Amino acid sequence: MRHIAVIGSGPAGYYTAEAAQKLWENEVSVDIFDMLPVPYGLIRTGVAPDHQSIKGVSRRFEKTNLSDNVRFVGNVAVGKDISINELQDLYDAVILATGAPLDRELDLPGKQLGNIFGSAAFVGWYNGHPEFAGLDPDLSGRHAVVIGMGNVALDVARILAKTPEEFAGADIVAHALDALAASNIDAITIVGRRGPHQIMMTPKELGELMHLQRASPMVDPSDLPDEEEDALLEPGLRKSVRHLRDFAAIPASIHGETPVTIEFDMFASPVAFKGDGKVSALEVEETRVEAGRAIGTGKTYDINADIVISCIGYRTSPIPDVPFDERAGRFANDEGRILPGLYCVGWARRGPSGTIGTNRPDGYGVVEKIAEDADSGALGRGRKAGRAGFDAMAQERGLDIVTFRDWKRIEEAEEAAARDGAPREKFVDIASMIAARD
Ligand code: NAP
Repeated sequence: MRHIAVIGSGPAGYYTAEAAQKLWENEVSVDIFDMLPVPYGLIRTGVAPDHQSIKGVSRRFEKTNLSDNVRFVGNVAVGKDISINELQDLYDAVILATGAPLDRELDLPGKQLGNIFGSAAFVGWYNGHPEFAGLDPDLSGRHAVVIGMGNVALDVARILAKTPEEFAGADIVAHALDALAASNIDAITIVGRRGPHQIMMTPKELGELMHLQRASPMVDPSDLPDEEEDALLEPGLRKSVRHLRDFAAIPASIHGETPVTIEFDMFASPVAFKGDGKVSALEVEETRVEAGRAIGTGKTYDINADIVISCIGYRTSPIPDVPFDERAGRFANDEGRILPGLYCVGWARRGPSGTIGTNRPDGYGVVEKIAEDADSGALGRGRKAGRAGFDAMAQERGLDIVTFRDWKRIEEAEEAAARDGAPREKFVDIASMIAARD
């Protein structure tokens, strides 16, 4: 029997468990740990609440969980309740699938001003992550600035722009829905330091901006390169740029009919936050792009900003005793191998890129590496205590473990509390999750 511990129950963790189950069938026992009492990581607290079809992948993970050889071990913080070294003593392989939950900081003058948030915090707020549920962003001003030209920036801009009715069927948490319903924001600026050919936004997500009830997207036609140049782009990016061209062609009369605008301000690199206690503007420097790089022109201007959400990427949270690549913001690894018996997968391995599905080959890949290492004898003789050993330690330490069956009870309570048409009303603090189990 091989004993495997997967740390993190997001998509990378579950795809890894699935791969281990496929490869070793009844010869493997996988424990999936999570610091929260609820599973699915990014699916629950990262994917936008109005993108329910993407969240549907959790049904596949549920199947993995409902087998005898994979179990969910919730409410256990690795590094606090149990160390990596202790886990390595108990399991043949320990796989870190902890994602990238920290914001890459935008280290600019004025960063301490109020109402400036990173996307991990802001997305965590509207998705009910216990760590960020109390964020309480001030949406009383008119101008929101969203920094970054990736899909997270798009998620944030779209969520800020939607009417309460457009959240029908979404699992946005009540505190965020109420705050957004009372929001005064009517000018959302998406700031990009490079140009249309360098955006990271994908076509489907960009296209959604055309179908918002009260908001319309605006692109300055003079920001667009000659159309013939689009032919050199890879097809996905070409489609995204097509959307930007469509946005640029929207007549002013349409913008006049929609009370909210989502304006793309490209070739604008953030320089400083300005304000008195609370942010009121973002100063940017105009850029031009040379060989793909943003070069400052020295010309600066201010963009009104009553709230700023910086969506410029994420970092993995370091764990004591685990080698970390500071520059890349993830664990130091060679194709998933960190140290003998210690592996990483998903965003914790490769950084915050790709879609949910990208984690599938990642999970299968790391399991192949473990199999190679087991075959070469690098993992020792396979006499670890595994699950039984962990259970004994958990009992000794009085850990309050949440099982998959417990989670199903929590899920039932969340479903029962849902608004009309919504799939669930999430608990946003750990005590309420535990209470729903009990
Ligand atoms: P991303 O795609 O890497 O985009 C980050 C953006 O931040 C880039 O436009 C980048 O510009 C900009 N940026 C970085 N540092 C900056 C700085 N100092 N100043 C100004 N701008 C800066 O990251 P993401 O949006 O966080 O998304 C993470 C991953 O999740 C992506 O793979 C994304 O596709 C995925 N995701 C997918 C969906 C979906 O499929 N619906 C939804 C959300 C997220 P440069 O290019 O100039 O560096």
